[in-house]
Amino acid sequence: MLATLRDEVLRANLELSRRGLALFTFGNASAIARNEGLVVIKPSGVPYDRMRAEDLVITDLDGQIVEGTMRPSSDLPTHLVLYRAFPALGGVVHTHSHYATVWAQAGREIPCMGTTHADYFHGPVPITEPMTSEEIASRYEENTGHAIVRRFCELDPMAMSAVLVVGHASFCWGPTVTDAVETASLLETVARMAYDTAALNPQASPISSALLDKHFLRKHGKNAYYGQPKSV
Ligand SMILES: [Zn+2]
Repeated sequence: MLATLRDEVLRANLELSRRGLALFTFGNASAIARNEGLVVIKPSGVPYDRMRAEDLVITDLDGQIVEGTMRPSSDLPTHLVLYRAFPALGGVVHTHSHYATVWAQAGREIPCMGTTHADYFHGPVPITEPMTSEEIASRYEENTGHAIVRRFCELDPMAMSAVLVVGHASFCWGPTVTDAVETASLLETVARMAYDTAALNPQASPISSALLDKHFLRKHGKNAYYGQPKSV
């Protein structure tokens, strides 16, 4: 079932490890087959060097296992909330990559300090509000998803394809799981640049909205002109 998507999700998970974004068994990637309403996700606690396509788990949007013998990633409920809330998402990635996690632990959004950031994220990378004791005690992973969705009530998830969960780490997404891995990689790069910028000059200011818009919109949206036309 969903053999092609299964392979893509396996490759995405292995790529997280290969790029140093997912240490130990932290991190997980999933993809959704929208027509079938099925999600393919990493199994829980399986080391990346031993993971095979048949180890991945397929569930429905309620988290019921449709195919697979292993338990799905414990973060599955977070992925499901995001897929239900944001219909444009095709893939979701969660990592504890170092610098993005440092910002999450510091409780700070990642300010847009330069055009590297602006090329991919339309503004500061947002951070969620802390969860209540009740939200943590019961349905924690699902409530993590709800905290992200609440943070996006006035944000476009396709213009801002990453979020920091305060005290935890990042979630990234995209039209495909391969895109989501790329976003996780870019997020780590801009998180590191912003950290070093703040270290070198604590008074450095984020770039202007004119420069932010210029760089983001020349690559994304209906008037994008960066790179080659799709037909080339
Ligand atoms: Zn985590």
